[in-house]
Amino acid sequence: MRKIIHLDMDCFYAAVELRERPELVGKPVAVGGGSKRGVICTCNYEARAFGVRSAMPGFLARQRCPELIFLPVRFDLYRADSKRIQAILRDYTELIEPLSLDEAYLDVTASGRFAWDIAKEIRAQIRTETGLTASAGVAPNKLLAKIASDWRKPNGQFAILPEQALEFMAALPVRKVHGIGPKTAERLARHGIETCGDLQQHSLSELTRLVGSWGPELYRLCRGEDDRSVHPHRVRKSFSNENTFSENLTTLAQCEDQLAVLTEELLTDLRQKAPDRRIHKAQVTVKFSDFTRTSKECVCPEPNLEVYRTLLAAAHARRPLPVRLLGVGVRFVEEDEPAAVQAELFA
Ligand SMILES: [Mg+2]
Repeated sequence: MRKIIHLDMDCFYAAVELRERPELVGKPVAVGGGSKRGVICTCNYEARAFGVRSAMPGFLARQRCPELIFLPVRFDLYRADSKRIQAILRDYTELIEPLSLDEAYLDVTASGRFAWDIAKEIRAQIRTETGLTASAGVAPNKLLAKIASDWRKPNGQFAILPEQALEFMAALPVRKVHGIGPKTAERLARHGIETCGDLQQHSLSELTRLVGSWGPELYRLCRGEDDRSVHPHRVRKSFSNENTFSENLTTLAQCEDQLAVLTEELLTDLRQKAPDRRIHKAQVTVKFSDFTRTSKECVCPEPNLEVYRTLLAAAHARRPLPVRLLGVGVRFVEEDEPAAVQAELFA
């Protein structure tokens, strides 16, 4: 049985900013979202009390919380803290898989100690060295550890024992399972499946009918079974390039012009940064003026501008609205992990 810890810093960017500006402690603070088109990266709990959330457009956050203080994003600062935190983690194990600047899985099976005690020590040491708080989940696998780290947030930790897995999963919305995107969730909802508990009521063959070849894995995941190992070097699942325009694009021709620029950058980047990866799919994302987002993808081992133009035309035709964001990307052939996972935010 593995011993996995999921460590997650509490409101990381906001916490770093508040440490640097103690005069703002106790006030609702958001990092990012201050510019015309910006979205919020992180906010503190005071802001969350007003319904402000990460990834929310700044103007909406301002509506919900008029006294919200917007701070500019300072990645250099957060990266420096992230490095200090990583160094602390490395004192405990080599098996660290960072998910972003403020989140990581650790496999401490080989330590011969209680994972619970290790998590406590790590959190205390982070607090001492950086002044920041972290939450931790302790469990026999990654799936459960990630659920557990959310349980006592902020500045807490929680363990899920193997025999508690079924019960914990039961109440969990299906969207919380890695690999279940909005489309799959929608399809499941049409069959009255909202939670992992609902999934547990279905047989393996029923699940396979619902989600195809992914059925067997989903059958295990909804029961809290997950045998993914902690990968010290996380493999990118996808690569993309997108742009939010300061003025909306009102015609398909305008979109095509921008698409050419984005595609050129993407293909150059791919050649430089991922020359050895095999491409599985090409994808175009369109965000309309009403903030709805749609994407169109196709299987395509060697994407080019023509492929992206075709995808754009299909995605663009879905809504008769001006376009505020365009993105182009690829999905790589997944060498060892079955479920589609969100691309890393900060690779
Ligand atoms: Mg976090």
